[in-house]
Amino acid sequence: MGWKIRQIEFEIKEYEYVKEFRISLGGSTRTRNIEITLTLDDGTVGKGEASTSFSIAGELKESSLGFADTVREIVVGEDVRNYRKIFDKLDFALRKAMALKAGVQGAIIDALTKKLGIKMFQFFGGAKNVIETDITIGIESKEEAVKDAKEYIDKGFNMIKAKVGVNWREDAERILAIYDVIKPRGMIVDANQGFSVKEAIMFADVLYREGVNVAIFEQPVKATDIDGLKEVRRSVKFPVAADDAVFSRYDALRLIKEGAVDFINIKLMKSGVSDALAIVEMAKSANVGLMIGCMAESSLGISLSVHFAAGTGAFTYHDLDSFQLHKEEFRGDFKWEGNKYYLE
Ligand code: MN
Repeated sequence: MGWKIRQIEFEIKEYEYVKEFRISLGGSTRTRNIEITLTLDDGTVGKGEASTSFSIAGELKESSLGFADTVREIVVGEDVRNYRKIFDKLDFALRKAMALKAGVQGAIIDALTKKLGIKMFQFFGGAKNVIETDITIGIESKEEAVKDAKEYIDKGFNMIKAKVGVNWREDAERILAIYDVIKPRGMIVDANQGFSVKEAIMFADVLYREGVNVAIFEQPVKATDIDGLKEVRRSVKFPVAADDAVFSRYDALRLIKEGAVDFINIKLMKSGVSDALAIVEMAKSANVGLMIGCMAESSLGISLSVHFAAGTGAFTYHDLDSFQLHKEEFRGDFKWEGNKYYLE
């Protein structure tokens, strides 16, 4: 008794950033996420969150909420123990609303694991119970970026991710200045599609010559430019990752087949839980590395990714810092201190 989904509700919640967060595709001072509340017929509640991204995924809150009745038709009356059956239907119905799919699937797993009396990270495999995240510095002045980098190092972070992709010379200068205060710790640089192939190569060359420890060069060129990504991968010394180019398992399959990537950045908001699980197994089979990232999830939404990452134990790098950049009250199902997230 009590395993069937009685109702599912959607509500918009707004979060303010501590300061404006800027990437090559634009800036924001706040985010509005869709919070999902699913109730089983015994009253058990599962929570999930969808953080849509217009600039990366082309999703709007409004277009995603347009699928509310479709989701209700699929999930209401279903037994959460048969989650694969529900997920398969959501994979099809929400193929243009990936963040919503992630939120709904997350709410289903939250309810299922509460009923089972296990934690979500155990549901995903229980591989680890502690993970370490990086922290992201947006596109800002060199002086401000250096100040932020120092502050994060003082807080114990061992990996700094920095957004680039606007002007490769200025970007390189800023990265060198950041590295100067964080070395020999590692950096992830993320262009969010902002460079041409040549700019990406020139940018990476400067960093390589100056000895910057770049763990990953993320999405240097347009998401649609697979040939360009391959060329960058062949020409630069650093591991190259696809992020904005990978949503479904089929995107991952194509990039792996083409030999276009060293790493894939999985985000539940792009793939949902179902495609993220498929990409994990595919990448491991193909010897492609994995990192996990986020959109603008609050601590509620990031909690699912923290459990997914720890449970699968599949990721070399974790970029699960979004809630740390918000002004919000912590609601995640994990403990944290600086860069360490603990599951128990
Ligand atoms: Mn990225």
